Amino acid sequence: THTLNIIGGGMAGSEAAWQAANAGINVVIHEMRPKVATFAHRTGNLGEMVCSNSFRSDDSEQNAVGLLHWEMRAAGGLIMEMANKHKIPAGGALAVDRDPFAESVTAALKAHPNVSVSYEEITELPTDGLWIVATGPLTSGNLATAIQKQTGAEALAFFDAIAPIIYHESINMDVAWMQSRYDKGETVEEQTAYLNCPMTKDQYEAFIDALLAAEKTEFKEGETAGYFDGCLPIEVMAERGRETLRWGPMKPVGLTNSHDPETKAHAVVQLRRDNALGTLYNIVGFQTKMKYGAQKTVLQMIPGLEDAEFARLGGIHRNTFINSPTLLDHEMRLRSQPNLRFAGQITGVEGYVESAAMGLLAGRMAVAELTGQTLDPVPHTTAMGALVTHITGGADAKTFQPMNVNFGLFPPLEGVKSGRRGRKERYKGYTDRAKIDWQAWLSQQEQPAA
Ligand code: FAD
Repeated sequence: THTLNIIGGGMAGSEAAWQAANAGINVVIHEMRPKVATFAHRTGNLGEMVCSNSFRSDDSEQNAVGLLHWEMRAAGGLIMEMANKHKIPAGGALAVDRDPFAESVTAALKAHPNVSVSYEEITELPTDGLWIVATGPLTSGNLATAIQKQTGAEALAFFDAIAPIIYHESINMDVAWMQSRYDKGETVEEQTAYLNCPMTKDQYEAFIDALLAAEKTEFKEGETAGYFDGCLPIEVMAERGRETLRWGPMKPVGLTNSHDPETKAHAVVQLRRDNALGTLYNIVGFQTKMKYGAQKTVLQMIPGLEDAEFARLGGIHRNTFINSPTLLDHEMRLRSQPNLRFAGQITGVEGYVESAAMGLLAGRMAVAELTGQTLDPVPHTTAMGALVTHITGGADAKTFQPMNVNFGLFPPLEGVKSGRRGRKERYKGYTDRAKIDWQAWLSQQEQPAA
């Protein structure tokens, strides 16, 4: 019989284990808790939710994370099954009673004849056998060091400093223009790679005031601030002096506003393409610890971004993750050591649902590998496929930051209205297409009864 070893029994590891065990594979989960703690987990349960008790929107027709729920349910996912069981009222969101939820994930796995749990910290990367590394954002220091040794120091991050990401279609191009600073680059595409938003002196001063006044989140105890010297939050830069941003990420030099070439901007906010499709743009150098509500209000003061819609807001968190676009193949195997598959937040997805989803995929891919089956690539048109395509190739490796699932990661639909007015129809189109394609992908692997 075949054995699959999984390091970490969190969202991703639990789901991977369930998928493989149900396909008849022997699974060993290696979990360091409760022997070794993290600063955020409180129990020794598998599938513990470390912070909020919500799996976010459950709307599988208009919301990308809701679609991910649907896809996981269609695949017999454990996390969704137990979430349904312990659901508590939360409007359109799927929120759960957290302790019974994690207890039932633990109980289901422990009761499964193909699963065993070994409570130990893994400190080295195993060289033999097939493994899934699903140790999450709080991967233990020893293992993180081992991963760093294998992948190179540059390829493993301990913090993410996220600049907000905006849907291109929500940016006002009557105000913003495309140009790289000093028109740098060989090709026209490179010379116009950035999107620029100009500010007058008054607008800049008002922006700085709002930034200083905005509500910020603090680092949690044990999260150790002071790591982020190279990527100061914009509000910290503003605190250091009102002109600091104008000499930093907002410097107005080397740029000419194509809508108004005569007027020199006092400051310029630059956005850079964030994905190959060109549907998402990140605000360059704008990592921030402003609270989400404040962030939207402040950033919408930037001319051209008045109606900006955010694919994700900025933040700075303790988060161990690898540079997946350079390190992993399309089946999430480490290129330099293919007996290791990575899954969950450590691959650079963000969120409980996304982490569990990547665990589900990794589990199924491992099953195929152990049983000598070749799987088709996960369709890019599904929420699962959009995420895995993003982390293993679609994202820019140089600026790779953890990502939530969102419709900006999906290939555009043909014949559907663009812009805000067609949004409802477009999202329905994305989700209809995804459901068909996901079912087709799943049907390759016939699951024997558990
Ligand atoms: P985890 O669920 O953390 O599972 C990893 C497991 O690996 C853990 O059980 C850990 O004990 C174990 N482990 C680590 N190292 C080793 C080792 N060397 N040997 C053996 N076992 C090991 N997402 C949301 O959607 N909503 C939130 O509110 C939210 N809040 C967060 C708050 C914090 C403080 C953090 C750090 C993250 C938060 N996240 C949140 C992000 C993320 O979605 C969750 O952390 C999610 O649990 C990630 O799933 P995972 O399976 O990748 O990792």
